Amino acid sequence: MRRRHCSYCQMTGHTRRTCPVLHRKAKEWPHSAEAAYVERMEKKKKQKRCGFCRRLGHTRRTCEARRTSMNEIGKLDEQWKKQALHKMREMGIGPGALLKSASTDDSGLLMVVDINWINIHMGMYETVKLDKVLRESKHFIKYDRSYINYTKPLSVFYPNRGIRGNTRIPRTAEHWQERFFDSESHFVVVSPAEVPDPPEWWYKNHQWIKKIL
Ligand SMILES: [Zn+2]
Ligand SMILES: [Zn+2]
Repeated sequence: MRRRHCSYCQMTGHTRRTCPVLHRKAKEWPHSAEAAYVERMEKKKKQKRCGFCRRLGHTRRTCEARRTSMNEIGKLDEQWKKQALHKMREMGIGPGALLKSASTDDSGLLMVVDINWINIHMGMYETVKLDKVLRESKHFIKYDRSYINYTKPLSVFYPNRGIRGNTRIPRTAEHWQERFFDSESHFVVVSPAEVPDPPEWWYKNHQWIKKIL
C-alpha cells in the first residue's frame, strides 16, 4: 500500500487535510493561505447534503437532478392525462354516471357527483405501471413509492344510504393486467354520463410530482 504523503510539509503518514504543520500555521496567521484553506475545508464539512441526489453543496429545493426528473415526469404526466381523459370518456365517468359494486352481494348503486381533477394524475396509476413508465424514460430516478396510494378522485353519492363519499375510478372490462386505471376498484359503470372538459390547469398541474421526489 502506498503511504499517505502530505503535499504541504512533504512528510508521510498524513495528508494536507490533516497536516499539523499547516493547521498550526493557519492558527498563527489568520490571513494566510493556510488559514483560508482550513476555512474552506470547514465550510465544506458543514455543507448540507442534498436529500435527492446525495451531493454536497445544495439542497433538494435547488437540486438540478431533481428539477430534471420533475420536468421529465411532468411531460409523461401530461401525456398520461390525455390518455386518461380519453379512457374516462370511453367509460362515461362523468357527473350523473351510475356505478355498481363489482361483487354480486352488494347491489346498491352509487352516483358520480363530481370529479376532483387534482386527484387524477399519473401518480394514481398502479405502482407497477408507474414504475414501468418511469423506467422507460431516460431520466428515471427513484421516487417515494409510499406516496402512491391510489387517490380517490370521484365524489359519489349513495342514494340508499343517503351518504356521500369518494371512490376510485371504476373498472374497465379488460383483464386486470390490462386495465388502464386501478384494477382494484370495487365498482363498474352501469349507466355512463358525459365527461366535461377538465379545467385548464389540469394538464400542467404537477404538485404530486414534488411530493414523490
Ligand atoms: Zn503535513
Ligand atoms: Zn441534488
